[in-house]
Amino acid sequence: MGKADFFPRKVYIDKESFDLPLTQRILKNIGQIPTEIILDREDFLEKRRISRDSVKFGKRDLFVTSQKGEFVKRCPCTPHTIGCNYFIINLDLNCPLDCTYCILQHYLSDPIITVHANLDELWRQLDIFLHKNKNRTPRIGTGELGDSLVIDHITENSKDLISYFRGKDNVLFELKTKTLNIENILNTEPASNIIISWSLNSPRIAESEEEEAPSVEERIQAAQRVSDKGFRVGFHFDPLVLYPGCEDDYQEVIAHVLTNINPGRIAWISLGSLRFPPALKSVIQDRFPQTKIIYEEMIKGKDGKLRYFKPLRLEIYKKIVRLIKEKGGQTIPLYFCMESESIWREVLGWIPKGEEDLEAYLSSPLGKSI
Ligand code: SF4
Repeated sequence: MGKADFFPRKVYIDKESFDLPLTQRILKNIGQIPTEIILDREDFLEKRRISRDSVKFGKRDLFVTSQKGEFVKRCPCTPHTIGCNYFIINLDLNCPLDCTYCILQHYLSDPIITVHANLDELWRQLDIFLHKNKNRTPRIGTGELGDSLVIDHITENSKDLISYFRGKDNVLFELKTKTLNIENILNTEPASNIIISWSLNSPRIAESEEEEAPSVEERIQAAQRVSDKGFRVGFHFDPLVLYPGCEDDYQEVIAHVLTNINPGRIAWISLGSLRFPPALKSVIQDRFPQTKIIYEEMIKGKDGKLRYFKPLRLEIYKKIVRLIKEKGGQTIPLYFCMESESIWREVLGWIPKGEEDLEAYLSSPLGKSI
């Protein structure tokens, strides 16, 4: 199981981006895989959009082009919740893994794995971003619009990104993955502001809903190797999916994490429960008729997304936080993804007073006692 060794069926290259160093590096790393030069990028993308089962086929091919707009954007989060002040780097889009609940099936307009190769422009925009935020400690990462490492053996982007952010102490840079594709990380010197993080779930959900991804145990082993190398690591229990007996399964995963990885090396753990816009439901029904997770009782929140009833969310969050604490993780910074003030207060006992408060909490090496 797992696509750490994913290679596309075909690589399409935007003619304008052909000479860029990253494009040439990709061509070297893909060996004999067929390629095609694209003369008209918009026409190419439009044809992909209207093709049959575009999401599925988009996960098999790679498109190398240039970012025409902003590389750095604030994570849009969702209305009426506490944002975690995260910034997204739009470097690679889409993902060859195929998790049933993946929001990208609904969110991305270009259904093909895309690499933006104009790195000089990325560094220029990042310089400006860091200058504007020189009195803050923002968090920024590449893992929101795809998996940060799943094609890293093809792009080697992790090496350039780590080397760019190394020593820039007013920013925390995160690579977020479900894969075991850590060779480039293990060959790179760690830095205290670089965090490599894994999305985790219960083994049962990983098997049924994250079929293409490595097992949870393998992910934890990869995190352990990266932590042993000297990097700080992070974990995202997101989306937590509820089913009878799930607490026992999550308990096992938490115990496994905290017995194998020194809590002092864990930069943060985030929690988020299954949520999705109603429009994603029909995409999931169509693409994954066997999945059951969308048929649980859910309510539509103020942000229009479907999610579990609040008492159910509270119950699982409280259990997980208690387990983390019992297993030695008292000082690990914890936060919620897309949750309300009342959830923060009832589960963690505090509410960040604005972005700077949360920033200070998550950038502190020890977080807050929970
Ligand atoms: S690993 Fe992340 S980006 Fe990739 S399919 Fe799964 S949820 Fe989507």
